[in-house]
Amino acid sequence: MVLMRAEIISVGTELLVGSILNTNTQFLSQELLKCGVDVYYQTTVGDNPGRVIDTLKIAMDRSDFIILSGGLGPTEDDVTVESFARFIQKPLVFHAPTHRAILRRLKLRDLRMTRLIAKQCRVPQGSLVLENENGTAPGILYKAGGSGAAKWFLLLPGPPRELGPMFKKRAMPLFFRVSGIKKKRLLLRSVKITGLVEAQVAQKATDLLRMKPPLTVGIYARPEEVELKIMAKAINEKNAAKMTQKVEKIIRGRFGNKVFGVNEETLAESLGHLLRKKKKTLAAAESCTGGLLSHLITETPGSSDYFRGSVVAYDNRIKSGFLDVPQALLKKEGAVSAAVAQRMAQNIRSFFKADYGIGITGIAGPSGGSPQKPVGLVHIALATPSKTFSEKWRFQGSRSEIKHRAAHHALNLLRLALLQRVN
Ligand code: ATP
Ligand code: MG
Repeated sequence: MVLMRAEIISVGTELLVGSILNTNTQFLSQELLKCGVDVYYQTTVGDNPGRVIDTLKIAMDRSDFIILSGGLGPTEDDVTVESFARFIQKPLVFHAPTHRAILRRLKLRDLRMTRLIAKQCRVPQGSLVLENENGTAPGILYKAGGSGAAKWFLLLPGPPRELGPMFKKRAMPLFFRVSGIKKKRLLLRSVKITGLVEAQVAQKATDLLRMKPPLTVGIYARPEEVELKIMAKAINEKNAAKMTQKVEKIIRGRFGNKVFGVNEETLAESLGHLLRKKKKTLAAAESCTGGLLSHLITETPGSSDYFRGSVVAYDNRIKSGFLDVPQALLKKEGAVSAAVAQRMAQNIRSFFKADYGIGITGIAGPSGGSPQKPVGLVHIALATPSKTFSEKWRFQGSRSEIKHRAAHHALNLLRLALLQRVN
């Protein structure tokens, strides 16, 4: 088969009414992607036989591999297996190994077989049955149609702890074995960029974003960062890695210092790597970020190697009394000023005997702004062994967004300074 279109059908009224989040679809989509199977549709339908059958009809017309999750259980509202059997016009037949497996499970818990539990021992004739290690309902793999236009169906139990292992350990290995479809490796590598907005990144990467499978690049904007996701599909991991490396090199060449990491790496981690590599230490004096910068830095294990600590100097009395920012300066320039941010950075650096000091002061809002000093105004200062400088920002957004943006820019200010070998 050249092109395989997969579709995921989630069965469950609780999903339709929003009582539970559909994490199975997310899991299945991610896993299928990794095996090189493209998911074209995701559908959700309630526990209603007529509508489950209607959904199966639509799926059969447009997809080759149809995966159903949920409704395999013993209760009356679990209708997936019966609906599927009616759809493929096969009777339900007794499956002895499942009966034995269920009896074993029940015995362990001192329970008896009931009529409802026994229902789970019946599977559509012609099914390949998948054992459930973490529950009673077995999974079902079924091939419909002739060899040319074969359609594959996979029925999985709803509870994620049953579905996950069954899908990975049993269903996919069996599917690749019996279908003769070659498993491919899909390698994902995200290159993370900061300091540019999505449109700017897109403009510089137009050619990459137009690439076609088996090697493609997607763009995703997250708060304060843009991710270029490279996807390479190949017969093995080595070939896929070669393909992604080629594109990563192009991206790094184009975006330079704006690339701060790959995959799960955070900006704070990336800064941590640099500080550790250069054997440098950092201390911070935070006002409007209220400790958020320190929190982000200390999210990385081992950050005590380079992070000395910080002071949340929220009140002016702490800025002057504790951090030694002159009262005259606070009065003349105001607490939210470049001069105060710089003095905070210098003093925390020397008090904490660090190589670098960061000072942050600003107005996170929603109140407290003025025409001269509006909400979102933040001064971020960096004191190094040889000089002190600061940046003035005007961030938009809610109080929490402004705090996050300020902390993020402080991390990036030091990261860029370290890359430019500032002393
Ligand atoms: P059971 O034997 O437990 O009844 P089942 O195969 O019949 O399993 P459902 O009855 O549809 O599955 O769902 C059982 C539970 O599994 C739900 O209450 C929910 O907690 C979880 N679940 C079902 N579908 C999903 C889903 N798509 N995403 C996340 N969790 C789900
Ligand atoms: Mg159920």
